Amino acid sequence: MAIENNTAIFYITANSFALAKKLNSLYPDAKAFKFKPDTLSKFWGKHKSFIFIMATGIVVRTIAPLIKDKTTDPAVIVLDEKEKHAISLLSGHLGGANKLAKEIAEFLGGQAVITTASDVNNMTSIDLWAKENGLIIDNCNLVPQVATRFINKGKLKVYSEVEIKMPEGFLRTDKPSSADVLITNKKDLFTHSPIHPFTQLYLRPKNLIIGIGCNRGTSANEIEDAVKKALAEKKLSFLSIHSVATIDIKAGEKGLNEFVRAYGFPIKTFTANELNSLRGIQKSALVFKATGAYAVAEPAALLASGADKLLLKKQKMGNVTVAVSEIKSRYALCVMRNKLKDKNPSLITDYGLRGIGKLYIVGTGPGSVEHITPYAQKAIRNSDVIVGYGTYIELIKELIKDKEIVSTGMTHEIDRCKKAVELAISGRTVSVISGGDPGIYAMAGLVFEVLKSHQPSAISHQLSVEVIPGVSALNACAARLGAPLMHDFASISLSDRLTPWRLIEKRLDAAAKADFVIILYNPKSKGRAEHIDRAREIILKCRKPETPVGIVKGAMRENERVIITDLKNMLEHDIDMQTTVIIGNSQTFVWDNRMITPRGYENKRQ
Ligand code: SAH
Repeated sequence: MAIENNTAIFYITANSFALAKKLNSLYPDAKAFKFKPDTLSKFWGKHKSFIFIMATGIVVRTIAPLIKDKTTDPAVIVLDEKEKHAISLLSGHLGGANKLAKEIAEFLGGQAVITTASDVNNMTSIDLWAKENGLIIDNCNLVPQVATRFINKGKLKVYSEVEIKMPEGFLRTDKPSSADVLITNKKDLFTHSPIHPFTQLYLRPKNLIIGIGCNRGTSANEIEDAVKKALAEKKLSFLSIHSVATIDIKAGEKGLNEFVRAYGFPIKTFTANELNSLRGIQKSALVFKATGAYAVAEPAALLASGADKLLLKKQKMGNVTVAVSEIKSRYALCVMRNKLKDKNPSLITDYGLRGIGKLYIVGTGPGSVEHITPYAQKAIRNSDVIVGYGTYIELIKELIKDKEIVSTGMTHEIDRCKKAVELAISGRTVSVISGGDPGIYAMAGLVFEVLKSHQPSAISHQLSVEVIPGVSALNACAARLGAPLMHDFASISLSDRLTPWRLIEKRLDAAAKADFVIILYNPKSKGRAEHIDRAREIILKCRKPETPVGIVKGAMRENERVIITDLKNMLEHDIDMQTTVIIGNSQTFVWDNRMITPRGYENKRQ
């Protein structure tokens, strides 16, 4: 299990060592090392970001021979040991150094030193915008020139062949020849009278599906050559490849696997039955004999993209057959899927939708694997990548042994969501996991906020999102206590990290007055004991001291502990962040060591 280790922190003095430790609470996955100039090359390439707590001069001299280019260099931040300045030294945009510098400065109460022109001028950074929209920059060397043009003129003309929301200052043009920026998978839009072909920035949308059929034992090199030749035939960019599609029985083919792995292309497979369900495809008896499908490359490319026409019909080159299609909108994918299902309802697979990235937002329940729903387990099993907080990852580790894991510390929920969306846009199947239910004080809302701030077209084209419910702490804890939630209840989180404390008090007061059963999540936010004390005081104003209270720690986990007490005595028990507290209403009673809230009033039940 490869836990991503993002940040390396280097210190020299005792003061800088203390600061490195402090930064660890901001970046729990970060590792601190004593700085030795001659060993730095060993770390380079292993970490995504480097924080140096020392003089800028030392850093510049040491990293100079290691720097390559802005697409691969890590983020480099320099900090002074008095915590005054966080300098974004290298890879401000793509590497994320500007963002890191701001985050660190805010955490330390110092100042971020940012020098990239777009940030200083408050303008969109082209490379960052491209990255966020899943566009690959073809001619990177032109970025500074085009960015300078943008800053000087305040606008850029953009020609785009994909639906995309433009930021301020990006003006659409339908004339490729007059554009500063071209968003296209085609290599030469300018066979006739180019105006300024060497000053135009090409951004490649990842929207090509390569359908491949090959004989057994075909080498990765031969496959790669065939794909490149096929793309050259139609003057299409290799950078625009979104994924590779083929028949399921070729999924284990060594050469094909080597090829897709070398470029990080997702591979989408279809059964012979699925491939045969497409009409209008040229059939080959030979292919049918070998695979059970009448054709592979063409129907696979079409099924994965949702297109009804190919960009390039099948080309047979030695042992390889290649066909190319372009991903259509999600709407087109759904139409195609429904058409196919109408024709053959016994095919229940996710036609077409397999061509695009999938983002599951999964609830993993209170703790043990048995309490994760079978459907959620299936989603996790079908995922390539699992994104989540360390504790939850740990709780389900037996389920995700063979998965790629992205896990950052607690303070980085937004980063985790962004990463998950990025991975899914690139065509992978990603599960973002939350303990309990993902929509209750968890990740689902955050993911949607990240998606909302993203360019909508990028999402609808390349991504399908599904929220998968889980057993929340309130269900698990209520079950352990008996039946305390049989009547109306209110759930309140005592965490004031994202909600002002006065609003929490207002809601406690309202719920207490209205005689709701009250569930308290996050009862000891940031380890503060006074939150639960204050909540109890507010509730005691409206409820008797004998009101039953259930305290459940680690429900369905190894350390589970269940206590039934009352409002008067509840503070005598240990209440921590793994605990949920349920406070009964005026009717709740204790019977046989269980906490029960009757459904109606006694007299109504006669
Ligand atoms: N999405 C989660 C809640 C996350 S907030 C859910 O639906 O359950 C975190 C809080 O949930 C904790 O502070 C605690 O109050 C509660 N919690 C989560 N798991 C729990 C468990 N196994 N037992 C008791 N309380 C739990």
